[in-house]
Amino acid sequence: MPELAYLNGDIRPIKETYVPIEDRGYQFGDAVYEFIASYNGKLFCLKEHLDRLQKSMEGLSFPKLDKEFIESAVHDLFKKAGMQRAGIYIQISRGVAPRDHAWEKDIKLQIIMTIKKVNELDPEIRKKGIDIITVQDERWSNCDIKTVQILFNSMAKQKAKDQGAFDAIFVSKDGIVREGTSSNFFLVKDGNIITHPLTKNILPGITRMVIMDLARNIGIKIQEKFISKTELFSAQEAFLTGTITEILGIKTIDGVPLGKGKPGEITQKLYRALREKAE
Ligand code: PMP
Repeated sequence: MPELAYLNGDIRPIKETYVPIEDRGYQFGDAVYEFIASYNGKLFCLKEHLDRLQKSMEGLSFPKLDKEFIESAVHDLFKKAGMQRAGIYIQISRGVAPRDHAWEKDIKLQIIMTIKKVNELDPEIRKKGIDIITVQDERWSNCDIKTVQILFNSMAKQKAKDQGAFDAIFVSKDGIVREGTSSNFFLVKDGNIITHPLTKNILPGITRMVIMDLARNIGIKIQEKFISKTELFSAQEAFLTGTITEILGIKTIDGVPLGKGKPGEITQKLYRALREKAE
């Protein structure tokens, strides 16, 4: 079950795959990406991820890429690797060109992918819940586009780690809770779940969408509205969602315990429902 890389149609071991130094993704962050997971040899929400990839490409005025083409490239790589529980990273850059801020019209997209085994999160962490910190959101104003410009997310995650926490959530200058460094944020209040509406300030998470559907099916009410930082501490439960995160219950925020200080009932119910759907 090899870990493999795809570069513009060629599939080889990751260590033997190199991207040219003048790739605009490398020099300008001029690239978009997706991360897709499989469960039991089945890719989860592939269509939804590829639809979002297309939207991200439109957001950066990339030329159109045929959906069937990228879908068949993903299947090809997935089949070759033969992994049951895989994570496929896709990155598409505007292309390779002599370094210049503007680009020539005839530049060709550069498509790379890697496939690796998913390392499951320690079940103990999932059971006990995580500690998170809040960080002021200083990212750009198009966070709905999934570009590789995620340095601020990466720095916030590192800050959390350095403080002994698991992750960070972004809070706007005026106190609105946005999302995690690689996840969306939900809280549970009076049995309802509340999450940030889809605006340019957050990524439209695929897991967010799946969780909202699952919650509706179970009969849990959902509100998409702004959550203020002060509201956080009156929540009964809070959790993060993402392709790798799945659903992760939060036990403290900035050192303050939340609800019963461990993942609550609704968090656990939704986690079970998600695994059932994916497996
Ligand atoms: N927000 C951000 C900033 C992310 O990086 C991610 C993960 N890609 C998410 C939310 C969750 O998205 P998804 O559920 O599609 O993985």
